[in-house]
Amino acid sequence: MQFEKSKKSMQEARQVLVGGVNSPVRAFRNLNVPAPFIKRGEGAYLYDEDNNRYLDYVLSWGPLLLGHLDSDVVEAMKKQLSLGITFGAPTALETELALLVREFFPVMEKIRFVSSGTEAIMSAIRVARGFTSRNLIVKFDGCYHGHADSLLVKAGSGMLTHAHPDSAGVSEATASSTLVAEFNNLDSVRNLFLARKGEIACVLLEPVTGNMGVIAPEPGFLEGLRTLCDEHNSLLIFDEVMTGFRVTMGGACELYGVKPDMVCLGKIIGGGMPVGAYGGKKEIMSLVSPEGPVYQAGTLSGNPLGMACGLATLQKIRKMNPYGNICDFVTNLKDGLGELLKKKGIEYTINSVGGMFTLFFTKGPVRSKSSVDLHDKELFQKFFEGMLQEGIYLPCSQYEAVFVSVKHTSLELEMTLTAAKKVLQAI
Ligand SMILES: *Cc1c(COP(=O)(O)O)cnc(C)c1O
Repeated sequence: MQFEKSKKSMQEARQVLVGGVNSPVRAFRNLNVPAPFIKRGEGAYLYDEDNNRYLDYVLSWGPLLLGHLDSDVVEAMKKQLSLGITFGAPTALETELALLVREFFPVMEKIRFVSSGTEAIMSAIRVARGFTSRNLIVKFDGCYHGHADSLLVKAGSGMLTHAHPDSAGVSEATASSTLVAEFNNLDSVRNLFLARKGEIACVLLEPVTGNMGVIAPEPGFLEGLRTLCDEHNSLLIFDEVMTGFRVTMGGACELYGVKPDMVCLGKIIGGGMPVGAYGGKKEIMSLVSPEGPVYQAGTLSGNPLGMACGLATLQKIRKMNPYGNICDFVTNLKDGLGELLKKKGIEYTINSVGGMFTLFFTKGPVRSKSSVDLHDKELFQKFFEGMLQEGIYLPCSQYEAVFVSVKHTSLELEMTLTAAKKVLQAI
C-alpha cells in the first residue's frame, strides 16, 4: 500500500497543528505505518488521499453506527442546512431529540444537550456535587471520561489514597478530589466509602468499558455499586457516551437493568455531529441553570444541525433495530478470529458486548485495567500494522474498542478474516 500523499499531508499538518492532529490518538505515534489522511467515507469504508480503501472498524471512534453517509441522515441535514445552521435560540428539534432519548433512557427524566462527551461528564459531576454538597468523586482505573481536569488522574499506590495527576497542567489539588477504584472490584469501592464517609458525591463509570478495551461488568458489579451508592447517599453516574445506542438502544442501563441516577451520552447521539447530553432524575436536574444554582451553558448546545443529525440517526436506528444483526456479526468475527489465533498458537482473549469488541493479545481473563496491561505490545502492533496494510482499519491501540456498523455484512466479515489469516501467517 502506498501512503505518499498521507505522509506529505502529515508533514504539512505538523507545521501548524500540534502533532499534526486535533486529537492525539490520530497521530499513529510509535507505529511503523503512517496515519492515513482521509478524503471520504461511504458505508463501511474509508478512502484516503492515496485512494487506498479501508474497511472501517473505528467509525469515528463510535458515532457512526449507521456507517458513513447514511442517506436518511444526509437528507435530514440538507433539509436543516436550507433553514439555518445555528440560532442560539430554542428550536423544536431539541425537544424532539430529548423525547426520543428519554424513550430509551427513562432515567433521564430531564435532559441537557451539550457539544461533547467531555462536556456532558464534567457538567454531570458539577451537578452531582451541587446535589449532594459533597466534593469527592470515584472513578475506575482505565475508564476514560473525556479530558476534564478532575478525570485526568491515575491511581495512587494502594487504592485507598487519592489520585495523582495523569497529565501536566492538572493540579494536585484537583486530582485529590478524585478517588480511583478497580473495575469489577466492589470491595475497592466499598473501602473508599468506608474511608471517606459522607464525602463522596458520586461514583462514575463506563458500565461496559471501551477505553481500556471492552470489559463487561461481572454479574453483581453494577447492582453492587447501586446498593453502595444508595447506602451512602451518593449518586451513581453511568458514562454511556460510548455504550449508549451501541450495546443496545437503551445502552447498558437497558442491557443490565440497573438504574443510575444520571446518564451521560455522546457519540451516536449526534450521529457524527458534536452532540453530548446529560440527564437524570427531575429532582437532580432541576438544580441546573436556569432552574437551579448549578451553572452550565453553551453557545452551540442543541444547535439545529447537530440535533437534526442526531434525530435522523436515532430514528433510523429505532426503525431498523439492528442490534441482533450487529451482535451476529461480532459473534462470527470473534469465532473466526479465535480459530485463526488458536491455529497459530497465539494467546488471546476476545471480549465483546453488542456491537463493540476487543481482541486482547493476552491469555486473560481480562476483567480490569491490570489485566489489559499484560498484553503483548509487539504482537498487537504487528497485527494492527498488518491489517492496515491489508485495508482493514482497526483502532490503533490495545486500549480501544472495535466498532461495527449496520453496513458491515457477511462480505466484510469474509474480507476481515481473509486479511487476518494472511497477517497472522506472516507474524
Ligand atoms: C469518547 C468518550 C468520552 C469523551 O467524549 P468526547 O466527545 O470525545 O469529549 C467520554 N466518555 C466515554 C466513555 C467515551 O468513550
